[in-house]
Amino acid sequence: MRDEASIIARLSRIVPSRIGVWPSRGVPLGIGDDAAVVQFPRGCESVFSTDAFVEGAHFLTRLHPPQAIGYKALARAVSDLAAMGAAPRYFLLTLSLPAGKAGAWLDHFARGMARAARRFGIRLVGGDVSRHTSVVAALTVIGEARPGRALTRSGARPGDALYVTGHLGAGQAGLELLLREGPRAIARHPDSYSLKRHLYPDPRLAEGAWLATNKFASAAMDLSDGLSTDLARLCAASHVGAVVHASALPLVHGERPGSRRAAAPREDRAALRRALHGGEDYELLFTVPRRLASRIPSRFHGVPLTRIGEIVSRRGVVMLDAGGRIRPLRPLGWDHFAPK
Ligand SMILES: [Mg+2]
Repeated sequence: MRDEASIIARLSRIVPSRIGVWPSRGVPLGIGDDAAVVQFPRGCESVFSTDAFVEGAHFLTRLHPPQAIGYKALARAVSDLAAMGAAPRYFLLTLSLPAGKAGAWLDHFARGMARAARRFGIRLVGGDVSRHTSVVAALTVIGEARPGRALTRSGARPGDALYVTGHLGAGQAGLELLLREGPRAIARHPDSYSLKRHLYPDPRLAEGAWLATNKFASAAMDLSDGLSTDLARLCAASHVGAVVHASALPLVHGERPGSRRAAAPREDRAALRRALHGGEDYELLFTVPRRLASRIPSRFHGVPLTRIGEIVSRRGVVMLDAGGRIRPLRPLGWDHFAPK
């Protein structure tokens, strides 16, 4: 069993931080004092977000490997910076865990988090640890954006084209596979796209920064709770409605994105349900003024950018199905406080 000081020392040694792997540029004072001191380049705006990753609500320690929990805790938080078109810089970690997880489990968790931190270019500058009956990783992430360029949810206008990055439904498909087969699913399906997206999501940082720098997007957000729920949020913030074309949605069939291996109608329906209502895709949903839509390529560094519908003035979100029928798209994605 480790004490608090040794847990902090261990975390800061494994996860990139001032006294860890990376040089101290921009961080005059990092982990170890009462608070951290960081410098921001002149003329930049700071972008803040916070996210709690909670055992029982978001993950299960009997199913999810500690490396994946550490990685995903940071990836989820950084996805909100990607949605703003901001570049990740610093983060704070508040970690609660049972005594039994303060040894090898914590080391694996920290290694997963370190891998994410290196990938996203973000440094740990402080935090707090406490003992608790279950694991809670609460992260505050701080990013940088050029003044006035941060992407928001509120700028969509009627006539704008509606886009998503990547494929939809993989996060949910990966979770279902893990729930069905248990932890051995990970060794059994080493090439599963869905499982990889569920365990190690890849926030769309480059895509968000590209949209913000070029002022292509009128509005943007990341898809954490499912398209039907998140699109309703974007529309509410922009005071508009949207039409989604079901046949345009970039689905995940089984384990692979876009593969249509003579899917049975039942599988097709399941793929569509996951794409509409499944959570944790961490793709970007964004709108583009019609005059700029020709500037959006079908792929950006290999990631598909798919036009899935348009913004309309009439409030509410509707879906146009393959048969040409229009029906309301109810928000059936993830909501912690939705009546069950
Ligand atoms: Mg978000």
